[in-house]
Formats: sequence, C-alpha cells, structure tokens
Amino acid sequence: MTDFSLTDNHHQNHIQNKECRRDLLSGTASISIYIHIPFCVRKCSYCDFLSGPRTPQLQERYVQALIREIGAQRDCPSGTPVDTIFFGGGTPSVLSAGQIGRIMEALREQFFILADAEISMEMNPGTADADQLSALKKNGLNRLSIGVQSMHDEELRLLGRIHCAAQARQAFDMAREAGFDNINIDLMSALPGQTFETWADSLRQAVEWKPEHISAYSLIIEPGTPFSDLYDSGKLPALPDEETDRSMYHYTRRFLAQHGYERYEISNYALPGRECRHNTGYWTGHPYLGFGIGAASYVNGTRFSNTADFEAYLSFCEDDLRADNLCKDDHHEDGLCEDIRTDVHVLSQEEKMEEFMFLGLRMTAGVSGADFASRFHKTLDEAYGPVIRRHVAQGLLQPTADGFCLTERGTDVSNYVMADYLM
Ligand code: SF4
Repeated sequence: MTDFSLTDNHHQNHIQNKECRRDLLSGTASISIYIHIPFCVRKCSYCDFLSGPRTPQLQERYVQALIREIGAQRDCPSGTPVDTIFFGGGTPSVLSAGQIGRIMEALREQFFILADAEISMEMNPGTADADQLSALKKNGLNRLSIGVQSMHDEELRLLGRIHCAAQARQAFDMAREAGFDNINIDLMSALPGQTFETWADSLRQAVEWKPEHISAYSLIIEPGTPFSDLYDSGKLPALPDEETDRSMYHYTRRFLAQHGYERYEISNYALPGRECRHNTGYWTGHPYLGFGIGAASYVNGTRFSNTADFEAYLSFCEDDLRADNLCKDDHHEDGLCEDIRTDVHVLSQEEKMEEFMFLGLRMTAGVSGADFASRFHKTLDEAYGPVIRRHVAQGLLQPTADGFCLTERGTDVSNYVMADYLM
C-alpha cells in the first residue's frame, strides 16, 4: 500500500508542522473531502437522500469508479493537504473494510492527509461488524457517526429503519471496543407518534452512552417519500404539533448542556473540543471536494456537483479507465471530472458574502466582523448595516465580542432570519 504520509521524506520531516507543510506546497491551503456511498440495505420511509439497495457487484464497480475519479481529479494540486474526510451516504458501512481501505489508499496517493486529520464515516447500526470496525480503525478512520435516530423500537419501525434500539447500543459498544473514541449519534425528533416523553427518554439514554457528539434533527416530510404519501392520505400517526416540537428543541438544548454537551450549531451538540471539524468547515466556507454520485464541491471559489445518475457516473469513470489502459492521453485533459460534473457555478463576491452570513449564523458563535472584513474588504455594517440593526431590534440577533449571533428567539425562526441576508 502506498502511504504518502510515510513514504515521502520531504513531507515526513515536517509531519508535526502544518504551516511548514503548507509552505512546501506553495502555500496551498488545506481542503476537506467528502466521499458519497449511495448504498443502503433498504430505503427508510422518510429518506430522500441519493441512496438505495444495490448488488455487491455494483458496489464493487462503484468503488472502482470512485478510485478512478479520485485519481483523475485536477481541481487541487497533487499533494494538497487534507484536514478532514467524511464518508457519507447512503450507508458507507455497507462497504467492506477492504473497499474503504482502497478508497483511502487512492486518497493518500492523490492528497497529503494531515497527521491529525479527522476521518469520519457514517454507520447504520444494522450493518455494524466488529471485525470491519477494527479494520477501519487500523486504516486511519477515527470518527464514527451512528444513525441511532431513536431509542424506541416503535418509532424506529415506523421510520423503516433496519435496526432496533438494542442493536444500536451493540453497534456503539462495538465501535468503542474497536477503539473509536470520537463518536456522534444521530437522533430525530418530531417523529410520527412521538411524544415529548419518548423524545426526552431517547435523549436520556443517549447521554448515558456518553458519545462525544449528538446531532438532533427534526424530521422533515420530503415529497416523494413513503412518509409523504402516508401523510397526504392521513395514514401517518400524528406528528408532534409546532408547540411540542419547539419545546422539544428547547428541552434538548437545556438537557444536553446539563450533561456537558454544548450546542455549537442549530442541530449539533458536542463535548468541549469534539465539534465535528468536517461539518464546521461547511459552515465556515472551508473548501471541499466531493467524490461519487451527487457529491458537491466548493473549491477555487466555484461550486459544482457530480451527476446524480448512477449509470452515467459508472460509464464515465469506466470509459476513462479504459482510455487510460489503451494509453490514450486525451482522457485527463478532456477531464473525467469535467464530464461527470453538473451545476458549475462561480460564486460572485455578493454570493460569497451571503453564504458567509447564512452559513455562519447557523453556528452558535455567529459571524465574526474581523473575518468578514478580511475576506471581503468591507465591514459588516457597510454590507448589512440596516438588516443587522433590524434583527437586533427584533431580538433575533445579538452582538458578540466580534460580530453577531442568533438569539434563542432568532434560532427558532432561523430560516426567516437567514433569508434576509440573501440579496
Ligand atoms: S440509512 Fe440513511 S441514507 Fe439510507 S435510506 Fe435510511 S436514512 Fe436514507
């Protein structure tokens, strides 16, 4: 296995010094990487993510295609430092540890994965396997995000999850035994049939497990899902009303804070120092490259997404590999990554400022005036003075030492507040 971080002496001499490494790479700033794995054992009833059941043969073809795409990328110079990697989906844990290992190897050949990189993978408790988890840990993965969703079997059954609450606990214990000391668990509120009491009980059990991080999202009924059809035909058990939903949210914040988990983003809570670095990058404008179908990227001031067409993605990657094997030298220059790419958009200065505001305000720390000025060469007041003053007067925003953040009331209506920063 080629391990760039261990075989390249040039870099090895500086393995503990990020700044030196950046200088060596001509000042190249670090990026994050997202890998999309679009496979699930079975589709959950509420899910509109790009995922579905596939055969082992298709999974293997997809892994080979991913490896090809990673090797063909030309958006970042070879050896660009990588500070976070996130395997999301879908259910990345349906892949074997060997397949994940080969994807990691391809990343190491193409990029310089920093020694302290956060490398996360989403795991469905229904796919947990002790040997796989140990192998993943050995392969450098150091953070797991486990889709627990609820501690109540009836709620899990309605969601169409493939696991029960006891299996989720077993998966968590297996991850600990494999050596993962940085684990998130996902929980969902506002579920059909859920009461304030069952939500509070899920939270109570979750903190007993002592994960480092808890993501607590409200269910959204997405069009085109089985839940949406059941909802429209009146067959879905009652959803918590708006007032109950809001009291669940406020209770979550208070209860988790009492147990040491501070909210640092609208739906995310962490023990001190255990915030998810990968997701924080999304909210703070850090560049990232996405690989796999539907994966989004933001590099060099440009946003783009890969095709969401599974067959088209496989064909492009396999054709590119065949061209390479035939020694046709036009395959990279024409650009595999260009072929599979859709929705390429170069952000204007105004759009970058908008993103800075509406993503930054998701964070509890809010937006920094100094950071804004250094990026955009104007002050927050010059760009957004009237709207900021209005939000402060309405009790939706409050000043921080160096900028502004949402108040509790502003958090309750955050979509409304953030929309005001779109020009
Ligand atoms: S496991 Fe996740 S990605 Fe897969 S169907 Fe369920 S919610 Fe969707």
